[in-house]
Amino acid sequence: METERTYQYARCSAVLDADHEVPGCEAIFDQALSNGLLAIVATEWPGKEIESKKLRTLPASALLGVIEENADKQPDGTFLIPGTSADPDVVCVDTKTLRDGVTETQAPRHGRGEGKLERRHIDALLVLDKHRSLGRMPEVVSDGRWIKAEIHDLYDRDRAQVYLEFIGDEEAQMRAERAPEHTEPYHPKHNPDWEGTELEHCAVCGYESFKLNVPVEFEDTGSGACLVCSYTRSPDTSYYLTMNAQIRQAIENDD
Ligand SMILES: [Zn+2]
Repeated sequence: METERTYQYARCSAVLDADHEVPGCEAIFDQALSNGLLAIVATEWPGKEIESKKLRTLPASALLGVIEENADKQPDGTFLIPGTSADPDVVCVDTKTLRDGVTETQAPRHGRGEGKLERRHIDALLVLDKHRSLGRMPEVVSDGRWIKAEIHDLYDRDRAQVYLEFIGDEEAQMRAERAPEHTEPYHPKHNPDWEGTELEHCAVCGYESFKLNVPVEFEDTGSGACLVCSYTRSPDTSYYLTMNAQIRQAIENDD
Protein backbone atom coordinates (compact mmCIF):
# COMPACT_ATOMS: atom_id res chain seq x y z
CA MET A 1 0.00 0.00 0.00
CA GLU A 2 2.74 2.47 0.94
CA THR A 3 4.62 1.58 -2.21
CA GLU A 4 1.69 2.44 -4.42
CA ARG A 5 1.21 5.74 -2.58
CA THR A 6 4.92 6.51 -2.81
CA TYR A 7 4.96 5.79 -6.51
CA GLN A 8 1.81 7.80 -7.26
CA TYR A 9 3.13 10.74 -5.28
CA ALA A 10 6.51 10.68 -7.05
CA ARG A 11 5.13 10.23 -10.56
CA CYS A 12 2.47 12.96 -10.28
CA SER A 13 4.84 15.38 -8.55
CA ALA A 14 7.50 14.84 -11.22
CA VAL A 15 5.01 15.69 -13.96
CA LEU A 16 3.86 18.86 -12.17
CA ASP A 17 7.44 19.86 -11.44
CA ALA A 18 8.09 19.80 -15.20
CA ASP A 19 4.82 21.55 -16.19
CA HIS A 20 2.37 22.67 -13.55
CA GLU A 21 -0.15 23.89 -16.14
CA VAL A 22 -0.43 20.58 -18.01
CA PRO A 23 -4.03 19.57 -18.94
CA GLY A 24 -5.54 17.80 -15.94
CA CYS A 25 -3.05 19.41 -13.53
CA GLU A 26 -5.79 19.81 -10.91
CA ALA A 27 -6.46 16.08 -10.68
CA ILE A 28 -2.74 15.30 -10.83
CA PHE A 29 -2.05 17.71 -7.94
CA ASP A 30 -4.81 16.15 -5.89
CA GLN A 31 -3.50 12.65 -6.59
CA ALA A 32 0.06 13.60 -5.67
CA LEU A 33 -0.93 15.42 -2.51
CA SER A 34 -3.42 12.82 -1.27
CA ASN A 35 -0.97 9.96 -1.75
CA GLY A 36 1.97 11.89 -0.25
CA LEU A 37 0.01 12.95 2.81
CA LEU A 38 -1.47 9.48 3.29
CA ALA A 39 2.00 7.94 3.27
CA ILE A 40 3.30 10.48 5.80
CA VAL A 41 0.32 10.36 8.18
CA ALA A 42 0.08 6.54 8.04
CA THR A 43 3.78 6.30 8.90
CA GLU A 44 3.88 8.94 11.64
CA TRP A 45 0.48 8.46 13.25
CA PRO A 46 -0.86 5.06 12.10
CA GLY A 47 -4.64 4.93 11.99
CA LYS A 48 -5.14 8.68 11.83
CA GLU A 49 -5.33 8.55 8.03
CA ILE A 50 -8.62 6.66 8.27
CA GLU A 51 -12.02 8.26 8.65
CA SER A 52 -13.19 6.38 11.76
CA LYS A 53 -16.88 6.02 10.94
CA LYS A 54 -16.63 5.08 7.28
CA LEU A 55 -13.29 3.26 7.27
CA ARG A 56 -12.19 5.32 4.29
CA THR A 57 -8.97 7.23 3.95
CA LEU A 58 -9.23 10.96 4.65
CA PRO A 59 -9.13 13.54 1.85
CA ALA A 60 -6.08 15.82 1.52
CA SER A 61 -7.66 18.75 3.38
CA ALA A 62 -8.38 16.57 6.43
CA LEU A 63 -4.89 15.00 6.31
CA LEU A 64 -3.42 18.51 6.44
CA GLY A 65 -5.52 19.00 9.57
CA VAL A 66 -4.01 15.86 11.13
CA ILE A 67 -0.52 17.24 10.50
CA GLU A 68 -1.46 20.62 12.01
CA GLU A 69 -2.79 18.90 15.12
CA ASN A 70 0.14 16.54 15.63
CA ALA A 71 3.27 18.19 14.21
CA ASP A 72 5.25 21.07 15.72
CA LYS A 73 4.31 24.50 14.47
CA GLN A 74 7.33 26.53 13.38
CA PRO A 75 7.78 30.33 13.53
CA ASP A 76 7.34 30.52 9.76
CA GLY A 77 3.94 28.80 9.99
CA THR A 78 5.04 25.42 8.63
CA PHE A 79 4.68 22.19 10.60
CA LEU A 80 7.72 20.13 11.49
CA ILE A 81 7.16 16.38 11.49
CA PRO A 82 8.50 15.25 14.89
CA GLY A 83 11.55 13.03 14.78
CA THR A 84 12.72 14.40 11.47
CA SER A 85 14.69 17.32 12.97
CA ALA A 86 17.65 15.14 13.99
CA ASP A 87 18.60 14.33 10.43
CA PRO A 88 19.38 16.88 7.72
CA ASP A 89 16.20 16.06 5.88
CA VAL A 90 13.91 18.07 8.07
CA VAL A 91 10.34 17.86 6.85
CA CYS A 92 8.42 21.08 7.42
CA VAL A 93 5.00 20.84 5.79
CA ASP A 94 3.63 24.13 4.51
CA THR A 95 0.00 23.25 5.21
CA LYS A 96 -1.26 26.74 4.40
CA THR A 97 0.10 26.74 0.85
CA LEU A 98 -0.97 23.13 0.27
CA ARG A 99 -4.47 23.86 1.55
CA ASP A 100 -4.61 26.82 -0.80
CA GLY A 101 -3.55 24.47 -3.62
CA VAL A 102 -6.45 22.15 -2.75
CA THR A 103 -8.89 25.08 -2.90
CA GLU A 104 -7.51 26.25 -6.25
CA THR A 105 -7.65 22.80 -7.83
CA GLN A 106 -11.11 21.98 -6.55
CA ALA A 107 -12.77 25.00 -8.15
CA PRO A 108 -12.42 23.81 -11.76
CA ARG A 109 -12.87 20.15 -10.82
CA HIS A 110 -16.27 20.86 -9.32
CA GLY A 111 -17.31 23.24 -12.07
CA ARG A 112 -16.90 26.37 -9.94
CA GLY A 113 -14.86 28.28 -12.46
CA GLU A 114 -11.16 28.60 -12.97
CA GLY A 115 -8.68 27.89 -10.25
CA LYS A 116 -5.01 28.48 -10.69
CA LEU A 117 -2.25 26.13 -9.67
CA GLU A 118 0.92 28.13 -9.04
CA ARG A 119 4.57 27.22 -8.77
CA ARG A 120 4.51 27.80 -4.99
CA HIS A 121 1.91 25.04 -4.62
CA ILE A 122 4.22 22.61 -6.43
CA ASP A 123 7.22 23.68 -4.33
CA ALA A 124 5.26 22.94 -1.16
CA LEU A 125 4.28 19.57 -2.61
CA LEU A 126 7.87 18.64 -3.49
CA VAL A 127 9.04 19.20 0.11
CA LEU A 128 7.07 16.10 1.14
CA ASP A 129 9.45 13.84 -0.79
CA LYS A 130 12.05 14.34 1.95
CA HIS A 131 9.90 12.29 4.31
CA ARG A 132 11.15 8.74 4.91
CA SER A 133 7.89 7.19 3.68
CA LEU A 134 8.36 8.85 0.27
CA GLY A 135 11.78 9.77 -1.14
CA ARG A 136 11.37 7.98 -4.47
CA MET A 137 11.46 11.07 -6.66
CA PRO A 138 15.17 10.94 -7.53
CA GLU A 139 14.65 7.40 -8.80
CA VAL A 140 11.47 8.24 -10.69
CA VAL A 141 12.98 11.31 -12.40
CA SER A 142 16.40 9.76 -13.02
CA ASP A 143 15.47 9.29 -16.64
CA GLY A 144 13.19 12.26 -17.16
CA ARG A 145 12.30 11.45 -20.75
CA TRP A 146 9.20 9.56 -19.69
CA ILE A 147 7.98 12.77 -18.01
CA LYS A 148 8.15 14.60 -21.34
CA ALA A 149 6.32 11.72 -22.98
CA GLU A 150 3.69 11.73 -20.27
CA ILE A 151 3.18 15.49 -20.60
CA HIS A 152 2.95 15.19 -24.37
CA ASP A 153 0.38 12.45 -23.87
CA LEU A 154 -1.70 14.64 -21.53
CA TYR A 155 -1.74 17.42 -24.14
CA ASP A 156 -2.85 14.99 -26.84
CA ARG A 157 -5.61 13.62 -24.63
CA ASP A 158 -6.79 17.17 -24.12
CA ARG A 159 -6.76 17.84 -27.87
CA ALA A 160 -8.69 14.62 -28.56
CA GLN A 161 -11.25 15.49 -25.88
CA VAL A 162 -11.93 18.82 -27.61
CA TYR A 163 -12.22 17.01 -30.94
CA LEU A 164 -14.61 14.44 -29.42
CA GLU A 165 -16.92 17.22 -28.24
CA PHE A 166 -16.68 18.81 -31.67
CA ILE A 167 -17.87 15.69 -33.55
CA GLY A 168 -20.66 15.00 -31.03
CA ASP A 169 -22.13 11.83 -29.48
CA GLU A 170 -23.92 10.56 -32.56
CA GLU A 171 -20.89 10.72 -34.82
CA ALA A 172 -18.71 9.17 -32.10
CA GLN A 173 -21.11 6.26 -31.72
CA MET A 174 -21.20 5.69 -35.47
CA ARG A 175 -17.40 5.67 -35.66
CA ALA A 176 -17.21 3.24 -32.75
CA GLU A 177 -19.53 0.81 -34.51
CA ARG A 178 -17.41 0.93 -37.64
CA ALA A 179 -14.06 0.74 -35.81
CA PRO A 180 -13.65 -3.07 -36.14
CA GLU A 181 -13.78 -2.71 -39.94
CA HIS A 182 -10.45 -0.89 -39.78
CA THR A 183 -8.46 -3.61 -38.09
CA GLU A 184 -6.46 -6.37 -39.64
CA PRO A 185 -7.22 -9.80 -38.29
CA TYR A 186 -4.49 -12.26 -37.39
CA HIS A 187 -2.89 -13.82 -40.42
CA PRO A 188 -0.17 -16.51 -40.24
CA LYS A 189 1.74 -15.03 -43.15
CA HIS A 190 1.01 -11.28 -43.24
CA ASN A 191 0.45 -10.75 -39.57
CA PRO A 192 2.16 -13.60 -37.73
CA ASP A 193 3.09 -11.75 -34.52
CA TRP A 194 -0.37 -10.47 -33.83
CA GLU A 195 -1.93 -11.68 -30.62
CA GLY A 196 -4.88 -10.63 -28.52
CA THR A 197 -7.40 -8.00 -29.49
CA GLU A 198 -6.71 -5.47 -32.18
CA LEU A 199 -8.70 -2.72 -30.51
CA GLU A 200 -8.04 -1.47 -27.03
CA HIS A 201 -10.25 0.56 -24.76
CA CYS A 202 -9.57 4.25 -25.47
CA ALA A 203 -8.53 6.30 -22.46
CA VAL A 204 -10.16 9.45 -23.87
CA CYS A 205 -13.52 8.53 -25.46
CA GLY A 206 -14.07 5.24 -23.64
CA TYR A 207 -14.92 3.27 -26.77
CA GLU A 208 -13.22 0.00 -27.74
CA SER A 209 -11.62 1.85 -30.61
CA PHE A 210 -7.94 2.44 -29.91
CA LYS A 211 -6.05 0.71 -32.68
CA LEU A 212 -2.69 -0.55 -31.47
CA ASN A 213 0.27 -0.74 -33.86
CA VAL A 214 1.68 -3.71 -31.99
CA PRO A 215 0.47 -5.70 -28.97
CA VAL A 216 1.78 -4.36 -25.67
CA GLU A 217 2.30 -5.62 -22.14
CA PHE A 218 0.85 -2.67 -20.27
CA GLU A 219 -2.53 -1.07 -20.79
CA ASP A 220 -2.60 2.56 -21.98
CA THR A 221 0.99 2.50 -23.17
CA GLY A 222 0.89 1.14 -26.72
CA SER A 223 1.40 3.25 -29.82
CA GLY A 224 -1.54 3.73 -32.12
CA ALA A 225 -4.56 5.95 -32.58
CA CYS A 226 -8.22 6.02 -31.71
CA LEU A 227 -10.63 5.55 -34.60
CA VAL A 228 -13.27 7.60 -32.79
CA CYS A 229 -11.64 10.58 -31.09
CA SER A 230 -8.25 10.68 -32.87
CA TYR A 231 -6.22 10.37 -29.66
CA THR A 232 -2.76 9.30 -30.79
CA ARG A 233 0.26 7.75 -29.12
CA SER A 234 3.53 7.81 -31.05
CA PRO A 235 6.02 4.92 -30.78
CA ASP A 236 8.31 7.33 -28.92
CA THR A 237 5.68 8.28 -26.35
CA SER A 238 4.73 4.63 -26.09
CA TYR A 239 8.32 3.67 -25.34
CA TYR A 240 8.59 6.04 -22.39
CA LEU A 241 5.14 5.29 -21.03
CA THR A 242 6.11 1.63 -21.08
CA MET A 243 9.37 2.44 -19.33
CA ASN A 244 7.42 4.27 -16.65
CA ALA A 245 5.11 1.29 -16.24
CA GLN A 246 8.22 -0.84 -15.79
CA ILE A 247 9.65 1.50 -13.12
CA ARG A 248 6.34 1.25 -11.35
CA GLN A 249 6.40 -2.53 -11.50
CA ALA A 250 9.99 -2.58 -10.22
CA ILE A 251 9.05 -0.37 -7.25
CA GLU A 252 6.08 -2.62 -6.51
CA ASN A 253 8.23 -5.76 -6.62
CA ASP A 254 10.75 -4.04 -4.40
CA ASP A 255 8.24 -3.82 -1.58
ZN1 LIG B 1 -10.90 7.59 -28.36
